[in-house]
Amino acid sequence: MNVLVFCEHNPSMDSPEGKAAYPEGLGECLAQLLRGAGHTATLLPMDEQGVHGFTDELLNSADVAFWWAHCYHDAVQSEIIDKVVDRVHRGMGMVFLHSSHLARPFLRLIGTTGFLTWREAGERERLWCVDPTHPIAAGLGDFIDIPQEEMYGEPFGIPAPDELVYIGWFEGGEVLRGGCVFKRGRGKLFYFNPGHETYPTYKLPAVRKLLVQACEYVAPKQPVSGPLGCSHRDDFCIDRSVKK
Ligand code: ZN
Repeated sequence: MNVLVFCEHNPSMDSPEGKAAYPEGLGECLAQLLRGAGHTATLLPMDEQGVHGFTDELLNSADVAFWWAHCYHDAVQSEIIDKVVDRVHRGMGMVFLHSSHLARPFLRLIGTTGFLTWREAGERERLWCVDPTHPIAAGLGDFIDIPQEEMYGEPFGIPAPDELVYIGWFEGGEVLRGGCVFKRGRGKLFYFNPGHETYPTYKLPAVRKLLVQACEYVAPKQPVSGPLGCSHRDDFCIDRSVKK
């Protein structure tokens, strides 16, 4: 599979805590994880200038895209957001991580605010699996413990997920629908709350297994084609970009 890893580099990642958590960089950590699972992973760094290294060719051959962002949601070029959202409608899978609950492609795809409550206090999170037969949770047991994480709590401004896989519980008492699948057009999205940049969450074996399984779950099972409802009826298609 071809996987794109959109990941920003922000000042917090250059702090002593950020560098200790991900000496190689958080985006590179994710890319290496996916390469280790046998996929081709291309890192597309994001900063205050927007996305770097994006090409139509990369997107048009992508099966899945990961997205991690926090500080620079508004810097991402609108044209790139339009193209990413369109490719999801055509079947590309996406994994939105942590503070990407406010990333513009996520908000476009879910259609709600994405707001939640938060507290950065290094609390333990226990992610309870609420759907033990779900492929994303395969082999991961009843729960996953994360020693230190940023608290994200309800109410979470998302539509009711099509598939709820995990609910996160935090030491401070809050809970969050932290592992959710949404189906949009032909594509599937997975939102996963853990992954604040100063805690080494993506080094935890259970989280790594989950992310690989999420990548494989949201990947298209058919070739990425026209938006839902269009591929067999091109003569009636309302999407001019695919009309013959
Ligand atoms: Zn965070």
